[in-house]
Amino acid sequence: PLILGIETSCDETGVGLVRGCELLGDEVASSVDQHARFGGVVPEVASRAHLEAMTPTVRRALDAAGVKPADIDAIAVTAGPGLAGALLVGVSAAKAYAMALGKPLYGVNHLVGHVAVDQLEHGPLPKPTVALLVSGGHTSLLLVRDLATDVRSLGDTVDDAAGEAYDKVARLLGLPYPGGPHVDRAARDGDPAAIRFPRGKWGDGTYDFSFSGLKTAVARWVEDAGRTGRALSVPDIAAAFQESVVDVLTRKAVDACTAHGVGHLVISGGVAANSRLRALAAERCAAAGIELRVPRPRLCTDNGAMIAALGAEVVAAGLPPSALDLATDTSLPVEQPLAG
Ligand code: ATP
Ligand code: MG
Ligand code: FE
Repeated sequence: PLILGIETSCDETGVGLVRGCELLGDEVASSVDQHARFGGVVPEVASRAHLEAMTPTVRRALDAAGVKPADIDAIAVTAGPGLAGALLVGVSAAKAYAMALGKPLYGVNHLVGHVAVDQLEHGPLPKPTVALLVSGGHTSLLLVRDLATDVRSLGDTVDDAAGEAYDKVARLLGLPYPGGPHVDRAARDGDPAAIRFPRGKWGDGTYDFSFSGLKTAVARWVEDAGRTGRALSVPDIAAAFQESVVDVLTRKAVDACTAHGVGHLVISGGVAANSRLRALAAERCAAAGIELRVPRPRLCTDNGAMIAALGAEVVAAGLPPSALDLATDTSLPVEQPLAG
């Protein structure tokens, strides 16, 4: 079946077309530039931008894939988690398409979509797989036995998400928003051992994470430098901060695989685009005999193909479609791939 996927949980209007693990179309319109001067996503601005981008983005995706609306077999849409107004635009559009085309509608989970998208690049996920989900709003270790029906949370961040920590530290260092890619780039010229920043919840025997202490440590370091007139190396701070983040992420991910006897790890979400995370994960997985899968950076950040990919799984599992009064859920739990 051919699945149309619609994503509007944050500031990207994403439309994807997928058949099984085959990616046919993937168009993204971002309002990120409109939020840059506020240093974070402004929900009302995002909703408005989704409204304006929705129809043209759907049309571009269909054109690029050479698909006619009548060819679509089902429509998948992000029901949550995300921004209330932004989600509402996508869900409303998806309902309209479902009704107009007479096709079933599936409200799916954005976070599980981040994991499912890897199938479009590397084929079906082995069962079970451990997934490290690292995004702007979430940081979780998951045991995925089945993308549509069996996703278990092993651990979560107790405070900031990994992407949030990157964005906050970028701001402290005077780098543009969103900061993750800028910290990544700055760190390439820095010495990760120049400063030893704390590793939150390191070796505590859980699969939970904490990044707010690290962020505070970076803030204090920057303040101290200002006060004492000590030279501040942005590349060194970026590299040392990044090392602290990816050290804990990769260690706990490998530990989760070992403890659960799972030989496969997938890393996904916006922070999975990070070059150092990809490199250290590859090194540690190789050493532990774990097969690592990380989607290409374009598929790591928000897009519609990830929602179509999860929609394809849900359809293949034979789960019932959502009702046309499907509600959005701003805090849909990751253990619920299908909403409602
Ligand atoms: P969620 O998926 O939790 O709802 P989100 O959809 O806003 O949040 P994503 O789009 O998955 O998050 O990821 C965005 C985050 O990824 C931002 O915090 C951004 O800074 C971060 N990011 C993107 N590229 C990189 C990179 N190369 N290095 C580090 N972080 C990055
Ligand atoms: Mg975004
Ligand atoms: Fe996301």
